[in-house]
Amino acid sequence: MKAVDDRVNLLDYDEAGLRKYFEAMGEKPFRAQQVLKWIFHHYETDINAMTDLGITLRQQLATRVTIGLPEIVSEQKSADGTVKWLMGLPGGNAVETVFIPEAKRGTLCVSSQVGCALNCSFCSTGAQGFARNLSAAEIIGQVWQAARILGHERNGTRRITNVVMMGMGEPLLNFDAVISAMSLMRNDLGFGLAAKRVTLSTAGLVPAIYRLRECIDVALAVSLHAPVDDLRTTLVPLNRKYPIAELMQACRDYVSDKHKRTVTFEYTLMDGVNDSPEHAHKLVKLLRSVPSKLNLIPFNPFPGTHYRCSSKTRIIRFQEIVMAGGVIAIVRKTRGEDIDAACGQLVGKVRDRTRRSERLKLKREEMSI
Ligand code: SAH
Repeated sequence: MKAVDDRVNLLDYDEAGLRKYFEAMGEKPFRAQQVLKWIFHHYETDINAMTDLGITLRQQLATRVTIGLPEIVSEQKSADGTVKWLMGLPGGNAVETVFIPEAKRGTLCVSSQVGCALNCSFCSTGAQGFARNLSAAEIIGQVWQAARILGHERNGTRRITNVVMMGMGEPLLNFDAVISAMSLMRNDLGFGLAAKRVTLSTAGLVPAIYRLRECIDVALAVSLHAPVDDLRTTLVPLNRKYPIAELMQACRDYVSDKHKRTVTFEYTLMDGVNDSPEHAHKLVKLLRSVPSKLNLIPFNPFPGTHYRCSSKTRIIRFQEIVMAGGVIAIVRKTRGEDIDAACGQLVGKVRDRTRRSERLKLKREEMSI
């Protein structure tokens, strides 16, 4: 994030950017490695404490740079161990970051935008409207803060084993900042996570999926939610621009040269909307053409929504049909529901600039008359 003064925030740079920064200063590029180690391995944010930089360089840097992080506004713990933080940003906005511990892994769900502009009809983040993109520093800063609080690396085991860009926002609409932050998640000087452990989830921005493949090696998740265009467009309006056939082609291409790599499709099950046996059969046909896995997400309700979660029997029936069709499908356990940390429930504090939340409020008032 930009500091109030005009100093640059070092967290806005990945390793390559930092090397260039030092070179431009007339310094050796390896300074980048030293600084990254201090920040990500020792959680040091005071330039003056970075002793191997030499006193003159430290003094110079102190006037030119900051290491600015999102500020922890609140922390909530769910009965199931899930933790949700509200992270404050300059300008009065805030985003949410969620840690989901499981027996053998710990997943951190990270936000990429304040709010979201895509207006998916079943997502509460969309209902908040959109304020702005997060900077690279604000994205990697969420991981840094969570890692520090959790005591990330202890006795050789990691608390955060996976990062998913599945929090607030559409990551591919904030492309450069997201790539820079993910590059630090992957980098050994950063968090050192393997490609399959950093997942970008998209509502289906087709051209950016192709760009992503050229820029970085990470896992891809696609929010599908419907096997046919008409229905998908009502749920994910972006589908009008990039219909299912184009999206599937982009997914095939994304994994085409990657051994054993799959695309994860997310499918939120809503009662009477997209959860019939017929939908399941159509989904099987569609997914057969892409090396993939399917995550079935029971719909999480939020105030003001008219959608309801499918019944357990309908969810299981749906799963049985797709599995019988040869698709690997798991039903995602709802986590952190008691603290509104489940999928689609992240709202943060959005200073909406699209005025969507006001429009919605009006609509709701009209409906109740
Ligand atoms: N914009 C990206 C990243 C958000 S990921 C994307 O669409 O993929 C958040 C996931 O939760 C998406 O799959 C989204 O469709 C799903 N989701 C949104 N609202 C939900 C809700 N109310 N219940 C369950 N899942 C929801």
